[in-house]
Amino acid sequence: MSPFIADGLARNFIAGEWAEGDGGAVIAVADPGSEEHIADCAQAGEQNLARALDAARATFERGDLADMKPAARARLMMRIAGEIRGIAAEGADILCRESGKTLAAAQDEFEEAAQYFEYYGGVADKIEGKSIPLGPDYADYTVYEPYGVSAQIVPWNFPVSIAARSLAPALAAGNSVIVKSPELDPIALAMLGLAFERADLPAGAVSILNGIGRDIGAKLVQSAQVDQIVFTGSVSTGQSILRDAAGPVTPSLMELGGKSAAVVFEDCDLDTLIASIRSGIFFNAGQVCSAMSRVLVHRSVYEQVVERAAEMAGGLSVGHGLGNPDHTPVISAGQLQTVEEITSTARQHGARVATGGARLQRQGYFMAPTILADVDPASPVAQEEIFGPVACMTPFDTEAEAVAMANGTEFGLVAGIFTRDLVRAHRVARRLRAGQVFVNEWFAGGISTPFGGVGKSGFGREKGLEALYNYVRTKNIAISLKG
Ligand code: NAD
Repeated sequence: MSPFIADGLARNFIAGEWAEGDGGAVIAVADPGSEEHIADCAQAGEQNLARALDAARATFERGDLADMKPAARARLMMRIAGEIRGIAAEGADILCRESGKTLAAAQDEFEEAAQYFEYYGGVADKIEGKSIPLGPDYADYTVYEPYGVSAQIVPWNFPVSIAARSLAPALAAGNSVIVKSPELDPIALAMLGLAFERADLPAGAVSILNGIGRDIGAKLVQSAQVDQIVFTGSVSTGQSILRDAAGPVTPSLMELGGKSAAVVFEDCDLDTLIASIRSGIFFNAGQVCSAMSRVLVHRSVYEQVVERAAEMAGGLSVGHGLGNPDHTPVISAGQLQTVEEITSTARQHGARVATGGARLQRQGYFMAPTILADVDPASPVAQEEIFGPVACMTPFDTEAEAVAMANGTEFGLVAGIFTRDLVRAHRVARRLRAGQVFVNEWFAGGISTPFGGVGKSGFGREKGLEALYNYVRTKNIAISLKG
């Protein structure tokens, strides 16, 4: 066990040191697969927060990172990537146990986190401004400057990779960052502090605070010392943070929920589709913002798709994440209850349970892999984010009807199209209200492809080069040469 958790208590990482909490009772962290207590987590209170804010500000004002030669900052990012790989084996074991996900998925999270640092390390010395022609009497140019102190609030479904997704571009651009870890699975994320320590990141450039969202999370985003808010989480919390940001007019990036639809045409490859449904809605027990939570299918193949999807879902192996089964528990008893309730309400609205539909009677918070057929597109189960292993299927007759249904929620995170007709794929992709459209493979894309929402799925983009420009602001310098 690493020093930060040697005695079963994960600490806060503040200004390069592991700090005890001053925020009251420790957070007890449990294993969703066994319901057993794993460890405790120290909660940051106001003094911890003040220390993190002061250190972040001082680091920024001194220019420890912001004024570092960009090529040196790029090398630092690469060192961090290496150190993340160095803690990955131990970290993935913790992440698997505290989140319930498979060990393989937890290992992938650490690998993805390392890759974010490599990707943004590669561009840390290429954040180039423009020269703007104003005629012979002027010199005019733009520079991109870091915001200063970036407050980043992270959800529990991918705590390590989502934290890295925002940390890496922010640091590459020279910001200081304060991360608030999710209360349900904070430990693996806090462990990233070890990688920052070992890579010799300037102390204060990153602090990681553990604690309750409405308490220390709210105090962080409300702080006048924060120059930017990056929030990934639910719509209701995002709305609350936006209200907090309105007073000081703090620039904000919102990565919120989704209710994403796959549009399945009659000419698609059914094997490819079923493989995508399997990962699209059952990966991480459906607790993915961009999950394929709705499947809209052309009526001519609808019953066939429902039957094959139900057969696939019913055949998934189930177990504790450490055994790398196909299907794992949801994060908590509360989440299980929410998923089960919305699924049973769906029945009252006429949905047919093709498979699953209830919790599994075993230790841990397991919801059966569920396929709901004949879902009314206006019903709550088709409109609200479920965040569990439940796919809602609905037939359509025309392309126009399918597009209207796909666009018929308040969300707009991703969407998918399954067809062999690429002309149709391009046409429909342009009409779908979503930040990213997958064609013939759900979750196609990766760390280099921009990701973010439309409507209540939020605004701003993460991933890719585009995300880098969320972490800088443009300054124009206009110089008269008239003497
Ligand atoms: P949540 O909104 O409950 O919590 C997210 C984070 O916000 C947690 O760290 C929590 O402690 C903190 N928080 C809560 N109240 C706060 C407040 N008042 N001020 C500051 N911080 C506060 O979300 P969750 O249940 O952890 O995550 C699931 C949600 O996240 C889903 O809606 C999912 O779609 C969304 N999500 C979106 C993306 C994306 O990139 N768009 C990625 C992953 C998850």
